[in-house]
Formats: sequence, C-alpha cells, structure tokens
Amino acid sequence: MQELTHYINGAHVKGTSGRFADVMNPATGEVQAKCPLASAEELDQAVKHAAAAQPAWAATNPQRRARVLMRLVDLLNRDMDKLAEALSREHGKTLPDAAGDVQRGLEVVEYCIAAPQLLKGEFTDSAGPGIDMYSMRQALGVTAGITPFNFPAMIPMWMFAPAIACGNAFILKPSERDPSVPLMLAELAEEAGLPKGILQVVNGDKEAVDAILQHDVIQSVGFVGSTPIAEYIYATGCANGKRVQCFGGAKNHMIIMPDADMDQAADALIGAGYGAAGERCMAISVAVPVGDETADRLIEKLVPRIEKLKVGPYTSGKDVDYGPVVTAAAKANIERLVQTGIDQGAELVVDGRDFKLQGYEDGFFVGPHLFDRATKDMDIYKQEIFGPVLTCVRAQSYEEALGLAMDHEYGNGTAIFTRDGDAARDFANRINVGMIGINVPIPVPLAYHTFGGWKKSVFGDLNQHGPDAFKFYTRTKTVTARWPSGIKEGGEFSIPVME
Ligand code: NAD
Repeated sequence: MQELTHYINGAHVKGTSGRFADVMNPATGEVQAKCPLASAEELDQAVKHAAAAQPAWAATNPQRRARVLMRLVDLLNRDMDKLAEALSREHGKTLPDAAGDVQRGLEVVEYCIAAPQLLKGEFTDSAGPGIDMYSMRQALGVTAGITPFNFPAMIPMWMFAPAIACGNAFILKPSERDPSVPLMLAELAEEAGLPKGILQVVNGDKEAVDAILQHDVIQSVGFVGSTPIAEYIYATGCANGKRVQCFGGAKNHMIIMPDADMDQAADALIGAGYGAAGERCMAISVAVPVGDETADRLIEKLVPRIEKLKVGPYTSGKDVDYGPVVTAAAKANIERLVQTGIDQGAELVVDGRDFKLQGYEDGFFVGPHLFDRATKDMDIYKQEIFGPVLTCVRAQSYEEALGLAMDHEYGNGTAIFTRDGDAARDFANRINVGMIGINVPIPVPLAYHTFGGWKKSVFGDLNQHGPDAFKFYTRTKTVTARWPSGIKEGGEFSIPVME
C-alpha cells in the first residue's frame, strides 16, 4: 500500500501522527493509498519553515518571483498528462476533464506572472506642499489554504499562485481524498525555482485545519468546500484575528425561456448537469423552464441525451462522459436524496438507480437521474446533491423563475437561455448570484476576472483570483512623506489637512 507524505521544507516527509485516511480508487472501490493526517505539531513544523523562508522571498523583487511562475507554467504543460492521470486516478473524473482542472489552475499561474504590474501600488506627487503620498502592497507573511476534493489542481493554484506571487509563504491543506496532485504541484514549484518552505503541503483533516485556525503566525486562511465547513472556518478564523475568505456550496439554476434554442439548452444542461458526475460547484443542478410547453419540449430533448450518456472509468479514455463519484459515502448520500425526491412526489423521468458497470461493481458509479415537476419545498431542490441528478422545477412566468433562484439560499452561479436580450439583461441586473451565464451554462470566469458567489456560497468580501487575489494576499501600507525643507518650518500641532 502506497503511503503518501507531506511536503515540508522542500522534502517529502512521512506522517508521524499515526493517523491516516484511505485514498480510494473510485472506479474500483479499492483503497489505493494512505494519506497521512497531520497533528498540530506537524503543522507547526511547516509554519516554522515558512516563517523562516518568507522574508527573503518577499524581498526578492517581484519580477524574479514572476519568473518562477513563468517556469512553473512550462513545467505544468510539460507534465500535463502525468498530472491529469494522477488526478483522474484519485478523483475519478475523465482525463480530458482532469486536464481541464490543471489548465484552469495554470491560467491563474499565468495571470500571476503580472505580479510586478499588479503590485505597483499608488503614488500621489505633491499631495500637499512638499509632501508625497504612496501606497505599497506588502505580503502578509505565512498564509494557508484548505481545498476541496473536486478540483485538486485548479483550486490549490487559485490560492497559492497569487499568495506566492505577492511574496507570501503558503501552506496548503488539500483534501485528504485526492492529495497526490497537490504534492506534485509543490514539487513542480520547487523545480521552477521556488525556495524551500514557500509552498508546503500538509495533509490532514479537521485536526490540521483547527491547527491552522489556531496558529498565531498564520495571517490568512482561504477555504473552498461545503457551506457548513466554510461557515465554521470563517467564524473561527475571524475570531482568531485572521484574514479569511471561504467559498461554499451551490445550487445553480438555469432558466430556459420559451424563445431559447431548445437543442442548445438541452446540450448545455447535459454537460453542466452531468459532467464530472455533477461534482462541480458550478454544475447546473436545477433547470427552470418557463411555461409548461417549454418544459415539455425541454424534457423531450433531454431524455434521449441522458439515455446516451456513457458512464465509466477514466481508463476507458474518450469514450466516457463522466466517471464515478468520489467515495461510497458520496454515492450513498446521492441515493438517499434521490429517494427523498421520489418520496416527496417529484417525477423521476430518468431513473439511474439500477446502474451497474460490468467489472466495476464495487466502484462508486451513479447512473444519471432526471427529476421533473419538483417543487421548492423538496430536499432535492433545497440541498446540494453533488451528483449526476438534474432537477426540473417548472415556472409559469419569468418572474417566478427569477424569484426561485433569488430565494434559494445559495448564490454561486446561474444561467439564462434565451434569444431575448432584454430578458437576459434584466436577469443579469436583478439576480442575487455571483456568476451569471447568458446562453453559457457554466459561467466560470477566466483567471483575470474574479470567481465568487453570493449568499451562502461565500463568506468574506474578496473573490478568488483576478485582481481581488492580489488584495487578499497583501496589506496596504500608505506613506505620507515630507523631506527636510518641511521640517525646517517647525512642528505641527493640529491634524494635518491637505489644502
Ligand atoms: P468539504 O467541506 O467536505 O471539505 C473541504 C475541505 O475541508 C477539505 O480539505 C477537508 O479536509 C476539510 N474539512 C472537512 N471537514 C472538516 C471539518 N469538520 N472541519 C474542518 N475542516 C474540514 O468539501 P468537499 O466534499 O471536499 O468538496 C465539495 C464541496 O465544495 C461542495 O459543497 C462544493 O459545492 C464545494 N465547492 C465550492 C466551490 C466554490 O468555489 N464555491 C468550489 C469547489 C467546491
């Protein structure tokens, strides 16, 4: 059995806590590796190395720091296939989807190459007589991030690329379900020239997370994962005086107007609802057709497309649309929620419950499901299922459809499919959700914009990547400077006002 490690101060280090998590092969249901779960002492070791290495890294000029990121981009491209394979093996997603996971993170590294420009600060010449004023963006020091299982390459890169570009040291606590790619990323960063101790990986569970939240030296905590944990980490981190940003769960609605291109809408729903087995925070899990006729046309288009979906292991290559879900517990939770849908009266139009794959009977595969005529009081509508289950809630008007999405507790992403520019514009203006697609089903912003939801999908005020990340990972220091001629005129005893 492979025993995975931590990555501390430039070396793979075995866990010493004696506690391990099983890393599964989701396609076969077998345990394929043991992931060490760090104790507070192990986390403290990493923090000490980070604190020792960080001042010299912060003092390295931003252009040189950016050059490390440039080389990292080359190395990520060089090792793309290797990274995608390792990712699929532990997560279960298809190889093209795994490569997309790496690619979307790589694009954030590319964006961070602009660190010299993004960190330039501000300068006011002659803010007062003989007085200049300037603002600097300085690194926080030792920073940390806690990431979910579903994007084990992209989300760590969302965090560590801007953190290190700004001159911080970063400690990553990845998901214990698929920790291999984060370890590979730390190795690659060092091969790219990153000094030891600037990017470390401490594997673990709640114990390591609590140690991060309680450690005095750690200045900021980034989190992506489920909403209850996001709320806990935000509250605890803030109470401990840290800068915290937490991104939580989602229930993303797609509104289909009567004038939408129904083939385009159905294709979009298939990719956005069932891709990655629905294990995406930007998956569309609720379809809201406006009017019964629209709903009937949509269901008619969806059913044959869903029946054609190919579910299988990533090793079957391009022949597979989506793979297994991540654990037996995730599969059981999906099955439980599907049963509540049936019990609470939704119509199960496509029933994936009996799905079996020959040779992979113990894998965590879930067949595709489609519910119609669900209502907003049902659990399948209220809760995040995080599986290949699309729920259709019929609305009788645009206002009712808009109101549904607005009333839902989550507000990560949403989409509208229509040919009417006025409806699309009204939707984008009024909806209380962070990321909006207009005839685009998964509106994940590119690296140079920012990513973030609203409502219970986020805790904190700055988004991920883009310009917000450079704000999150730096503190502003503003200097007001006057040189000796000013001093000659004697002291000032009242509060200075710029005239
Ligand atoms: P999760 O909340 O179970 O785990 C996320 C991280 O928190 C992991 O590193 C885990 O080890 C840690 N953790 C788990 N339980 C903890 C506890 N009790 N105390 C402290 N730390 C704990 O989430 P997951 O299952 O890995 O990921 C799926 C969830 O993440 C979904 O809800 C999905 O919507 C969400 N997600 C959100 C975004 C976003 O940007 N909003 C992106 C991806 C995933």
